[in-house]
Amino acid sequence: MPAQTHLFMCLKDNFGVLLHDPGSGRTAAIDAPEAAPVEAALKATGWKLTDILVTHHHGDHTGGIEELKGRYRCRVVAPDGEAGGIPEVDETVRDGDTVRVGALEGRVIVTPGHTSAPSTLYFPADKLVFAGDTLFSIGCGRVIEGTMAQMWQSMLKLRALPDDTMVHCGHEYTLANIRFAKTIEPDNKALAERGDEVKRLRGAGKFTIPATIGAEKVENPFLRADLPEVAKSVGLSGSPAWKVFAEIRERKNRF
Ligand SMILES: [Zn+2]
Repeated sequence: MPAQTHLFMCLKDNFGVLLHDPGSGRTAAIDAPEAAPVEAALKATGWKLTDILVTHHHGDHTGGIEELKGRYRCRVVAPDGEAGGIPEVDETVRDGDTVRVGALEGRVIVTPGHTSAPSTLYFPADKLVFAGDTLFSIGCGRVIEGTMAQMWQSMLKLRALPDDTMVHCGHEYTLANIRFAKTIEPDNKALAERGDEVKRLRGAGKFTIPATIGAEKVENPFLRADLPEVAKSVGLSGSPAWKVFAEIRERKNRF
């Protein structure tokens, strides 16, 4: 049976998401920014929390873990390289490992850059990817613990996923990301159309994700740093792609 997901907001602009296997009844929270909205989501769906799959160690992704584990005794799965900064960890995972939620099978893709060793969780049969703060819709996370070159490699790993993969990310930043992306690619027609769609969604109080990898590939400048027209637009024609990526990321930091 295919996976079911339930998306909701936590804190100021964090996404929370529940991933449910209807066959076994197991339900995973992808990150746990805070306990109360996760519990409200469980109540709304009637699902029972069995697992928390953590993408990275930042407090706005882990703040609810202790309280939820205390209440539900759920299994906490965290990236091996960051487990020391995450409470109540039961299992750690590394690049290429499999994570199961009942019959749902996910693969861990370690995507360094935002932090040193975050897990991006990819469920190929369900065409779902949970990218934490590595990839946002029309954006990417700040490069804090890794290098720009590492983050660019992480972008390439995610860009290589099938076009119909649905991207879930850690924050509702899409509208602001599009405003910035238009400064890099003012003539990108698909990006302009996405901008109109996102404005409509936000105006109606709706979420702007999941996006697809296929759409992100043509609209997200951070996945497009190896295109000649993008390099040209930031004055770096002929430079290595990671340098173009770094320039775009630095411009976004100042935007
Ligand atoms: Zn983060």
